[in-house]
Amino acid sequence: MPIFDLICLECDKKFDVLISNADKDKIICPDCGTGNVKQVLSPFNSSSSGGSRVPDSCRSCSVGGSSKCCMRDRLL
Ligand SMILES: [Zn+2]
Repeated sequence: MPIFDLICLECDKKFDVLISNADKDKIICPDCGTGNVKQVLSPFNSSSSGGSRVPDSCRSCSVGGSSKCCMRDRLL
């Protein structure tokens, strides 16, 4: 499951959540409870090292990072 870095547009609180892509628009601010949050794109999350690991988001099967990903066999 991907971690999203978010910022609340109401109270400016920064937080992160571990949530699936499907539930992404259900995220609310832990402080004020608004759904008015914006994803912060962090360069650290997208470029994690590890060489032969499965990509975080696989374009072919969109599972990515799990044992179900179609790229897994190729990379191991
Ligand atoms: Zn807030």
